[in-house]
Amino acid sequence: MHAPRIAEKATPYWWEAAPLKPLARQPLPRKLDVLIVGAGYAGLSAGLVLAREGRSVAAFDAMDPGEGASTRNGGITSGSIRPDYATLSRRFGEEKALAIEAEGKAAREFLYEFIKTEGIACDFQPVGQFKGAFGFEQYEAMARTAERLANKLKIEAYAVPYVEQRKYIGTDVYRGGTVRMDIGGLQPAKFHAELLRVALASGLTVHTRTSVVSIERDDAGFRVVTAAGQVQARQVLVCTNGYTDGAVPFLRRRLVPVRSRIIATEELAPEVMARLMPKRMMITENREVGFYYRPSPDGKRILLGGRDSSRVGDPVAPKLLLRKGLINLFPELEAVRLSHSWFGNVAMNRDMLPRIFQKDGIVYATGFCGSGVVWAPWIGMHAAHKLMGNDEQARTAFDFRPPAFIPFYRGNPWFMPAFIQTYRMRDRIALWRASR
Ligand SMILES: Cc1cc2nc3c(=O)[nH]c(=O)nc-3n(C[C@H](O)[C@H](O)[C@H](O)COP(=O)(O)OP(=O)(O)OC[C@H]3O[C@@H](n4cnc5c(N)ncnc54)[C@H](O)[C@@H]3O)c2cc1C
Repeated sequence: MHAPRIAEKATPYWWEAAPLKPLARQPLPRKLDVLIVGAGYAGLSAGLVLAREGRSVAAFDAMDPGEGASTRNGGITSGSIRPDYATLSRRFGEEKALAIEAEGKAAREFLYEFIKTEGIACDFQPVGQFKGAFGFEQYEAMARTAERLANKLKIEAYAVPYVEQRKYIGTDVYRGGTVRMDIGGLQPAKFHAELLRVALASGLTVHTRTSVVSIERDDAGFRVVTAAGQVQARQVLVCTNGYTDGAVPFLRRRLVPVRSRIIATEELAPEVMARLMPKRMMITENREVGFYYRPSPDGKRILLGGRDSSRVGDPVAPKLLLRKGLINLFPELEAVRLSHSWFGNVAMNRDMLPRIFQKDGIVYATGFCGSGVVWAPWIGMHAAHKLMGNDEQARTAFDFRPPAFIPFYRGNPWFMPAFIQTYRMRDRIALWRASR
């Protein structure tokens, strides 16, 4: 029996306006200053910086340009850090915690400046983000966070009480929320295509549909075996994030790929959109496994995303779960049809922090934990400076040790479905407590 079709297309909505385009095959270089594995946002932004500094540099990607997470994501320029400020302070001390948060601000500004100065046509809209609270206590805590962000980092952030909520979002599910005006939305596939355009024009060579198979250290640097042949590289940068495979076993044991899925509605009437998303903001929730959603750049549909605990195939259950979430938020969409439903891999690690690190001479830029629209270009740029020995420009609060090893794990995240279910259960308990 066929599973019921709940969306017309299983490819990203973004690919309608910015389809994946195969690149012409390039001759294989014998030698390189830097070989980059992965041509998503991180690999391309590193390659762009290196090429502009005159390095001979090439990025190799197993798939078409951007076919990983970089053309599949929600396009929300959140730059979030999973651990909250209190957790970061406990772990690293207040100074480092603040430095980490401050770098989020710097990374967002870097992205916006890059879009402006390079003329990147990616439908970027600095519309702000609303974060919904599921309980009044949570709302109070979130309001304090917004106040701290406003005072300490001078970010335009404020609380929205329950009675004002409908000015921001057409649902009563939340008990108020907070707004951050430093976050916006872009069209991720257009952003990738434009980043690729600028990187190629700067002298980066991109070899797509060409996997890196193995990397071995030798006297001259690294001997890299690719699907097209062998390359000698002085330095290697790994930017494979949620698509990391056996070519980099050290990383594979420390990074867990997790599916994230998005559904897109058909076009909705302008008055419906104006009622449900009056300010066209990006939306998120304060749950462990919450939803993120937004209007399409033309303001005609809603795109809603969340974790997908499936690991193989394209089962219908995760789509139904997202659809149920959408209807719960906006009951008037009960009969809405979905035009698209797709997924991609994000990469989680044990401390849930993005990072640059070096191990056995190889530099890694990775672990974006579902927030790479801001972090991947930023960390990629810093990784490029690290490779060139530009200490000042390479300085970042995210130059950490490698992520911790995950026991009994070699790249097959068998535990992930149970993990996500546990977090969903914790969310349900928190919701029940908040509603008493
Ligand atoms: C559905 C979804 C929604 C998301 N929403 C948001 C959002 O709204 N905001 C946000 O900030 N972030 C979001 N993210 C996360 C964001 O997309 C990623 O963090 C970001 O794109 C990571 O970029 P990257 O360059 O590190 O990796 P990717 O773009 O995933 O690229 C990695 C590349 O490495 C290549 N590769 C792997 N192994 C090899 C090999 N051996 N040889 C050659 N190539 C190899 C892969 O082919 C792949 O193209 C979302 C992700 C998904 C999937």
